[in-house]
Amino acid sequence: LFQLSVPLNFIGGVYREVQQAFIDMEAMFGLRDARPKIVDVEGAIEYDPATHGSSIEFDELKFAYDVKDTTPRGKGGVRDGVVDASGDDGGNGRTAAAAGSKAARRPILRGTTFSVPQGKTVAIVGTSGCGKSTLLRLLYRFYSPDSGSIRLGENDISAYTTRSVRRAMAVVPQDVVLFNDTIGYNIRYGDLSATWDDVVDASRKARLHDLILRLPHGYDTVVGERGLKLSGGEKQRVSLARAILKRSPILLCDEPTSSLDSHTESEIMSNLKEVGKDTTCLIIAHRLSTIQDCDVIVVMDGGRVVERGTHDELMSLEGGRYRELVAFQRSHNIEEENTEDATL
Ligand code: ATP
Repeated sequence: LFQLSVPLNFIGGVYREVQQAFIDMEAMFGLRDARPKIVDVEGAIEYDPATHGSSIEFDELKFAYDVKDTTPRGKGGVRDGVVDASGDDGGNGRTAAAAGSKAARRPILRGTTFSVPQGKTVAIVGTSGCGKSTLLRLLYRFYSPDSGSIRLGENDISAYTTRSVRRAMAVVPQDVVLFNDTIGYNIRYGDLSATWDDVVDASRKARLHDLILRLPHGYDTVVGERGLKLSGGEKQRVSLARAILKRSPILLCDEPTSSLDSHTESEIMSNLKEVGKDTTCLIIAHRLSTIQDCDVIVVMDGGRVVERGTHDELMSLEGGRYRELVAFQRSHNIEEENTEDATL
């Protein structure tokens, strides 16, 4: 049944495939208005993960948004931030009159340094607005750093064509956009040349297969706005299945914030292991309970990395920031659970 629907779906499919990465990135970062500002350098080479490798190294990255860009969007927008008119405050956090000033820049990354070894999973944590998404936007080349560098494999990221870099990255956003099409197609979309067996395999790895079999028409069930509505966590699993099918060497994942989906969410995290042992994963993590098995946890604050290590290493730091965040979330969750108990 699923295969019957493929030829029809194929029309427009190629176009959609090109669009998909952008849809996901827009969904991930609320970049609906932003256009890539990066032009490839002359003689830029095609990024080939097999040849160049897929480790990622952020080195002393500094980045500021133009203040005129700071219309609040999505969950972002201008917050209580410090604004500096010079474009680089050297981390001193001087305040300048930003509103209306064309030259004003708002420093977000103030010398961020850490690396993601090839095939490892690194989680970035930090308070809202500390620059986690900004870091991934730079990696996806929506912006260039003001100073410092990003190394991808054996070269600086700017040595490659932007297109080839993006092609190597699969994005699992928090709010996945599904097409009004069958769920089978929505998965297969990760690789239109995939066989039926590949699709089922990817959906098993994303823990989606059993759920799909329970749907009224199985893999032929139409989902999306005009079809069956899936929960946020389920949609994210569709996105993960796509990423598995695509076999991207690099996976960027924005973990859901919704506490309602916490069970599904922890499944997503454990499923990342299924993505492939050679896949380099970078995750923006919101719920610390789910990232304990990550190879490295990077804690950001004020645009810099303040701690890094495994969960156990960070938990053993007396007075550490990670410990503080974990304690805060635990007490917060306990409150939530108590509230739930009280209403039951
Ligand atoms: P969250 O956990 O809430 O998603 P985050 O750590 O991912 O936050 P970023 O999205 O990187 O934070 O944003 C860092 C800061 O930069 C925020 O204060 C945000 O308002 C601001 N910001 C984000 N996008 C832009 C933009 N296009 N122009 C100007 N400022 C922006």
